[in-house]
Formats: sequence, C-alpha cells, structure tokens
Amino acid sequence: MTIVMKFGGTSVSDGSRIRGAVKIIKDHIDLGSNVVVVVSALNGVTDTILEIAEQAASGNQDTVDEVVRTLAKRHRNVAEEALFDREPLERTMRKIEELIAEFKRVLGSVSILNELSARSQDYLLSFGEKLSTTIVHAGLVDAGINAVMFTGGEAGIVTDDHFGEAAPLMKVTAHRVREKLSSMVEEGVTPVITGYIAANQDGITTTLGRGGSDYTATIIGHALDVDAVWIWTDVDGLMTADPQIEPSARTIKSISYAEGMELVYFGVKAMHPKALEPALEKEIPVFIKNTFNLGGIGTCIGKDQPVISKNVVKAVAIIRDTALITVGGAGMIGTPGVAAKVFGILGENHINILMISQSSSEANISIIIPKGDLDKAVNLLELVFLGKGMIREVSFEEDVCVVAVVGAGMRGAVGVASRIFKAVAKEGVNVRVIAQGSSELNVSFVVSRDDSVKAVRALHKEFKLGVQE
Ligand code: ASP
Ligand code: MG
Repeated sequence: MTIVMKFGGTSVSDGSRIRGAVKIIKDHIDLGSNVVVVVSALNGVTDTILEIAEQAASGNQDTVDEVVRTLAKRHRNVAEEALFDREPLERTMRKIEELIAEFKRVLGSVSILNELSARSQDYLLSFGEKLSTTIVHAGLVDAGINAVMFTGGEAGIVTDDHFGEAAPLMKVTAHRVREKLSSMVEEGVTPVITGYIAANQDGITTTLGRGGSDYTATIIGHALDVDAVWIWTDVDGLMTADPQIEPSARTIKSISYAEGMELVYFGVKAMHPKALEPALEKEIPVFIKNTFNLGGIGTCIGKDQPVISKNVVKAVAIIRDTALITVGGAGMIGTPGVAAKVFGILGENHINILMISQSSSEANISIIIPKGDLDKAVNLLELVFLGKGMIREVSFEEDVCVVAVVGAGMRGAVGVASRIFKAVAKEGVNVRVIAQGSSELNVSFVVSRDDSVKAVRALHKEFKLGVQE
C-alpha cells in the first residue's frame, strides 16, 4: 500500500512534534507501506514571511533583520530538538544557514528595488517549506529511513504563471512526477516533498495558494495513483459545525468528495479548496487525521455512499468576513451580458465570488465576496457601470455571513428548504439572500453577522447533527 502523508504546520511546529511525525511515518513504513511525505512550513511561518516581504519592500530594514533573526533561531531550535545525533544536526544546521542566507539576499533585492512582485513573493514564501522540510527530512534519515528530499518543482509539479495561486498543469505534472518518483517509491525510498510550492514551465518557483500543501499531497497522490492520501492536522476531521459555535458538533466519519468539496469551499479550514479534485479524479480516499489525537476517528472523504434518509444534511458551515454587493437597475432587465460583465471584471481582478443570486425580475444581482475585497470590488463596478444606463446603483453591506447547509441527501428530497428556513425563522433571523447550488448539495443563505450563530445552532438542532451517525 502506498500512502501520501501530508503534515500541516501545527503538526511540525516544534521539535517534539517533528519527532512525532517521524514516528508516525516510520511506524507505517515498518508495517510495510510505502510512504510519500509532504510537509508544510512550521505554523505561522508563511504569515511571517508575507509580513517581512512587505516590510522589505517598504525599506524597514531593522524590522526585516529582526524578524529574519527570529525565524532563523526558531528553525535552529526546532532542528536541535528534533535531531539526536551530532552529525545530521550539524549538516542540517549548515543547510538552514544556507537557506537563510539566500532568503536574506532575496529580501535585500526586494528592499533595493522597493518593490515586491508576486513572483519574488512566491520565491520568498518557498523558504518556509524548504526550511521545515529540511528538518523533517533529516529527522527521517536520523530514524534510519531511506528518505530523499525534493521541492515541489523538483518532484515534478508544473504550474501556470499565476504567482500566488498557481494552477497545476496536471498532464505534464503527472508524467514528470511519475518519472521522478515511481520507481523510487516502489524500491522503498521515501520522498519528502515541500508542500505548497511548485514551479512553472521555466522552472521559476510558484505557490499553489494558501493552505496549498494539501493540494500538493493530492496532486502527488493522483500522479502516483496511490492507495490513500492522509492529511495530518490539528483537528479530528471535518465537523458537523464549528465547535466554537455549537458545542455538540461532531466529527463526520465519512463524507463524499462532492460533499467534502462543498464544505471545504464554504470555509471549513481543514483543507485547500481545490485539494479534493485530483483525489476525486482517481477516486483516491482522503483521510483527515489528528496528530494530537492518534486514536481519533478522523474523516474519510471518498466515493458517494448510499444516503441514509435520516441524514439528509451532513453539516452546517459558515463563512465569516464576507460582504454583500447588490448591483441593480431596470436597465438590466432583459439585457444579456450584464452578469457576465460583472463577473468578468471581478474575476480579472482576482476577486473570489463566494455566492451569486439574481432576483427573477432580473433587476438585481447580489454577490457575496470576501470582506477584504469590498472596496476594490465596489470601485471597479462603479467605474465600469455607473452612468452607462444599464446599472443604476451599486450598493453594499459589510458584516454579513454565509450559512451553508450541506448534504448529498438533500438532492431530490422534498421539504428540506422549508425545514431550513422555518428553523431559522423561529429564531427571528432575517435571511437576506438565498442560493441553492445546482448540484442540490447545498443551500446557502446570507444573514447579518449577529444572527449567524443563532442560525447555525438552530440548523444543527433541526437536523439532529449532534446525534451519532
Ligand atoms: N505554508 C502554506 C500556508 O500557510 C501552505 C500550507 O500550510 O498548506 O498557507
Ligand atoms: Mg493547512
């Protein structure tokens, strides 16, 4: 059996956790599995790099020096805690120094130019995963495992040029990854691959978007057609609701790819939004497991299962920090192409549309986007549309949340929507916009932030999600 195991930032955040990860990997190799390891940056490191990259571009040299020192020290400490023997430790320390020196050199050129391009930012970000993976790799070698380290690019992941959120070119990638890794894995060698980072066709470093190590894991899993992908993280799995909102929330034991995709899309932070696609294509089961609770059940994401009628709904998710924009005007009625234009402008400017709803009179389109993009989006829409007849008004509202009810059992089931909105109405929650995915796997609606907790709790109760499957 071949398994891709990905370790997230909190699962490698210090020396003892890295030793824990090494032990998990070793135990499975000893049991006879071939393991391919994918590693995230130590937790918080990617955020720190983003911050210093900006500081460097603004010329705040003192801050940059200080943060780089702290970052270097943290990795040295982690290596010291993770590694027992002197020789591998010294070798790893030298590698860490080399990486830090190169990192500083790049930061130096960013500050000379006073400019941070997406391409340089990706290169800077790559050091987070290179540093963490260097240490995990040394730990594995220390434990007697025949491990070889690769960056995502070296392992064969090729992407387009969309720095910051690059898309893998799956055909070439699959071919190259197989060429690089297949026979090695069959011979029992353990590749240890930096998550999140890849390279474009010219070999320039790219990143797959935040949380991208999950995506690395499933891309590699797809290419090698492995038996399973295990995502090691700090929670037991996907949950029926956010446990901070609903204390009776449970870990979901098994869920289909389609349901999992909806949940991940709707902000369940356990995974990169695209990570399930490569797994789905090859029907490779993805397990979410908790490094802090090895005995936990975890969640298995896999093929569709027969729906048990009492479980029409699997989970209630919430997306916070969203904003609602409504574009309206009688000029839109019967005018083809308005919606396409709106989405086109937002898309070209990399504003992610979370939800869309058009009133059947066609006089209004409501769009939900991340709150951080609100100013940019409203500016763009006003610039393009106002004063041109079609759209009379662009209005917006901050501080709204999207609540999404997800479950394959809703498909074709009559009366689910009415149960949802009755339960919510009973709590006095005002629903602003409603949308149902055409897959019928989710019903989502927009409420004010203040009402969101009430809505989630009411639905969790209505569909008895706290009760064991
Ligand atoms: N280190 C990257 C991030 O924090 C990728 C990952 O952890 O999956 O987004
Ligand atoms: Mg992650």
